[in-house]
Amino acid sequence: MSTEPSTNPSVTTTLSVVVPMYNEEDALPALVARLRPALDGMDIGYEVVAVDDGSKDRTAELLTEFQVKWPELRIVRLRGNSGHQAALTAGLHSAVGAYVASLDADLQDPPEKIPEMLGLARRDHLDIVYGVRADRSTDTGFKRRSAGAYYWLVRRLVGKQVPAQAGDFRLLSRAAVEAVKSMPDQHQVYRLLVPWLGFPSGQVTYQREERVAGETKYPLSKMIRLGLDSVINFSAAPLRLATWLGVASFFGCLLMVGATLAIYLCGKTVPGWTSLFIMMLFLGGVQLICVGLLGEYIGRIYTAVQRRPTFFVGYDSAHSASETPAEGENGR
Ligand code: UDP
Ligand code: MG
Repeated sequence: MSTEPSTNPSVTTTLSVVVPMYNEEDALPALVARLRPALDGMDIGYEVVAVDDGSKDRTAELLTEFQVKWPELRIVRLRGNSGHQAALTAGLHSAVGAYVASLDADLQDPPEKIPEMLGLARRDHLDIVYGVRADRSTDTGFKRRSAGAYYWLVRRLVGKQVPAQAGDFRLLSRAAVEAVKSMPDQHQVYRLLVPWLGFPSGQVTYQREERVAGETKYPLSKMIRLGLDSVINFSAAPLRLATWLGVASFFGCLLMVGATLAIYLCGKTVPGWTSLFIMMLFLGGVQLICVGLLGEYIGRIYTAVQRRPTFFVGYDSAHSASETPAEGENGR
């Protein structure tokens, strides 16, 4: 259901480019130097929505400086560090363009590919164009292997429609953005949610470049969080795993009961201590796994029922006259 957004007279911004950034003072000048010419050269109405995800360095200051000379740059500042996906959510909710592209601030995704993405979306009436990494040779071995395992797992759990090696560099039509915004999930994982929507889609391939400056803002803890969100948002497989473990341990215990009884009947009860001890440990372990998994889901039900926003917009340069924060911003 591709819509040609330019038919809507209220839409004058053809393209919004959402760039989440956290402590990117080193990468920012290089980003502006490459992103601006790429967008100016397209000869369309555009805005760049820079989502400052609670940066503690000079990112906010630099953005304000750049904005003086670049009126298309819009700054959306979150009150605290909410994470990459939540920053993307904030950007998607703020963007007004008929098409919305998302891009990392560190130039690992080349901005020069955006015109190609928009051209492809318009020509083939596509709602989604993925940027697919043709090559990750510039990433570290650990990053490549962990990413490989991640995509293998999520394609098994969510479905083959998830393009392998497509991160958060993509272009969405207004229809796709509205669909994404209507999803009530907390802890969105867009690289899984967007393919799941089932809109007509295409791909452009690109070379994954090295981070232009600064260090990765994705430490292992955030990667694990993303992996957990990916698996638990989209699949009850971990719960099923707990069930199978439970079934297996039940039959295992039945055998142990038989063995214990046989030993008891032979009058050699004391040596049974070892098997009893093993059984207790085994059951304890299995029960803990099950309780942990249930806890994950119950925790999610809890946050969903609470419907707490995942972000608060503290400042939006498009509404800077009022300076009032977006009250009750629904961080869906
Ligand atoms: N990012 C963010 N909030 C965070 C972590 C990262 O907005 O809490 C941004 C970051 O500034 C960058 C993008 O998300 O623009 C991807 O992060 P990064 O490049 O550090 O991840 P990597 O490429 O190493 O996986
Ligand atoms: Mg990066």
